[in-house]
Amino acid sequence: PSLPADAQVLDIAFTAQMETLLDNVEDGSADWVKVLTQFYKGGFEDALAQAKIHMRDVKREETPTEHACVECGKVMNIKWGRNGSFLACAGYPECRNTRDYERDLQGAVVLLPEETTDKRCPTCTGPMLVKRGRFGQFLACEAYPECKGTRPMSIGVDCPNACGGYLAERRSKRGRTFYGCSSYPNCTFAAWDRPVAGPCPDCASPYLVRKYSKRDGVAIKCPSKTCDYSRDPELDDEDAKAVAESKA
Ligand SMILES: [Zn+2]
Ligand SMILES: [Zn+2]
Ligand SMILES: [Zn+2]
Ligand SMILES: [Zn+2]
Repeated sequence: PSLPADAQVLDIAFTAQMETLLDNVEDGSADWVKVLTQFYKGGFEDALAQAKIHMRDVKREETPTEHACVECGKVMNIKWGRNGSFLACAGYPECRNTRDYERDLQGAVVLLPEETTDKRCPTCTGPMLVKRGRFGQFLACEAYPECKGTRPMSIGVDCPNACGGYLAERRSKRGRTFYGCSSYPNCTFAAWDRPVAGPCPDCASPYLVRKYSKRDGVAIKCPSKTCDYSRDPELDDEDAKAVAESKA
């Protein structure tokens, strides 16, 4: 793996400072033992400790386990995604098999049972399982790898356009999170703020959004520009539950 950015910066800074110090030692203006001690104590020690932590993070991205992929037989690696670690097949991207795991008291990796859903595969109409990827959870066909059908994971809100679809967390091409309809491209509903089931008590809006502002913090608000409806999310049991679930 390549060095993390911090370590590269550190390396350049180290080289530059060291050159200056060694020049001073060479022309007799500095005692080299003192120079090196000062250099080490003057922040380099801390920087080195920081760099070690970052390098460990990089290594940690793919730690092999003793579990073999049930789809292709390659080793399952521990990977880190947005919601913590999970197992992913070393054959990625040819094999996209993933699995949730936990550690037992001895620290051994134990596979968790796969979570089934009542959602149907868009390709073969078979049952779908909850899978984890680098960008969070999604649904994959139980018949994988024979069927490669996938669906985004619902945020628990039906599409406000009443198209029969549901809303899911998506990523824009530039990596920004937004909320879109599962029926895309047939339905193009999209919102930057996380939608909450409506309707708005004050107007005709079929949904509300969780919005952050410096003045109010997080509030449940109406997306309509002509409506001022707002409420404290703490009062909203259903929504609090949905957020807790999305964090779990
Ligand atoms: Zn595999
Ligand atoms: Zn399928
Ligand atoms: Zn829709
Ligand atoms: Zn409203």
